[in-house]
Amino acid sequence: VKAVVLDQLGTVRVQERPEPRLEGADEAIVRVTYAGICGSDLHIVSGRDRGCRLGTIMGHELTGVVEELGSEVDGLRVGDRVVAPFTVSCGSCFYCRRGLTGRCVHSRGFGFVAEDGVGLEGAQAERLRVPLAATTLVKLPDRRADGQPFEDREALFLGDILSTAHGCATGASISPGDVVAVVGCGPVGLLCVLAAQSFAPAAVVAVDAVAYRRERARSFGAVAAASPDEAAHLVADLSAGRGADAVLEAVGVAEALDLAIRLARPGATVSIAGYHTAEVYPLPIQAAYAKNLAFKIGRCHARRGIDLLLPLVLAGHLRHTEIITHVLPLSEGARAYQIFAERREEAIKVLLTPA
Ligand SMILES: [Zn+2]
Ligand SMILES: [Zn+2]
Repeated sequence: VKAVVLDQLGTVRVQERPEPRLEGADEAIVRVTYAGICGSDLHIVSGRDRGCRLGTIMGHELTGVVEELGSEVDGLRVGDRVVAPFTVSCGSCFYCRRGLTGRCVHSRGFGFVAEDGVGLEGAQAERLRVPLAATTLVKLPDRRADGQPFEDREALFLGDILSTAHGCATGASISPGDVVAVVGCGPVGLLCVLAAQSFAPAAVVAVDAVAYRRERARSFGAVAAASPDEAAHLVADLSAGRGADAVLEAVGVAEALDLAIRLARPGATVSIAGYHTAEVYPLPIQAAYAKNLAFKIGRCHARRGIDLLLPLVLAGHLRHTEIITHVLPLSEGARAYQIFAERREEAIKVLLTPA
């Protein structure tokens, strides 16, 4: 199969790789229709997320069509259109039964194979192997609630960034009339703006240094700030000086979390969707104590998120596909990574399609 692989630290390359084959009776082979390029892919390529074996096929966001099924896979058929969460899950362990599917005891992530061989090849390929297929893959309906065809690209974000953003907003305990701050207006941050709006806040203040991303946040109904100081002023103005009632952090670096803590009012929740790769973070613990802050952090439970959010997507209430700025053929994978990483051509979300 043609695939985007981690060539060496800093670069990806499109290569021909061995055809994936079923290795167990619980598995499926899926022909990929769309694969997203995600900020966490960039962490792997840059080496900030350490330990990925060179030659690993990248990518963990996908829709596709089932091409082959192991003998023990119930509930799916060859030819089904499916979406996958970014990790596989068993559906029956302690964590899966509690909806914490991202922490399944059999969890493995697509697009990250460690030096010891643990992990799964990724989705930025013509086909991929999916273990635990019956409990990982979700079949997509052919039509939306309005009778229109349900396109794969409308479902793609369910498996990661849409579930991540909604999990982040839910974790922030937003009440109607709240002032919400969103730190970062990349793909996840912009979907956090949309997710926050679904809780009927009085205002959403979104912060990003990149002008065209602020513009998109405004189009989603946010008040946009270009700098930490501007964000602090806007939040103070909107909240009678108290600070934000809820803060969603969607970057994953220390400066973003610093700002999130700064913007929060006493008693607020800081909900962290950003993927933090640093080993430690110097928590300003006195400020956090003095503000009685609550923190929510961690990988989203995307398999559960698909179940929760698929009805909303089918109803057509979300505007999540508006962040898609580029759809490029898989063969241009290396260029697609550059466009996304260097924010060329006003890129927000960049997709690859093998077709
Ligand atoms: Zn992702
Ligand atoms: Zn499980």
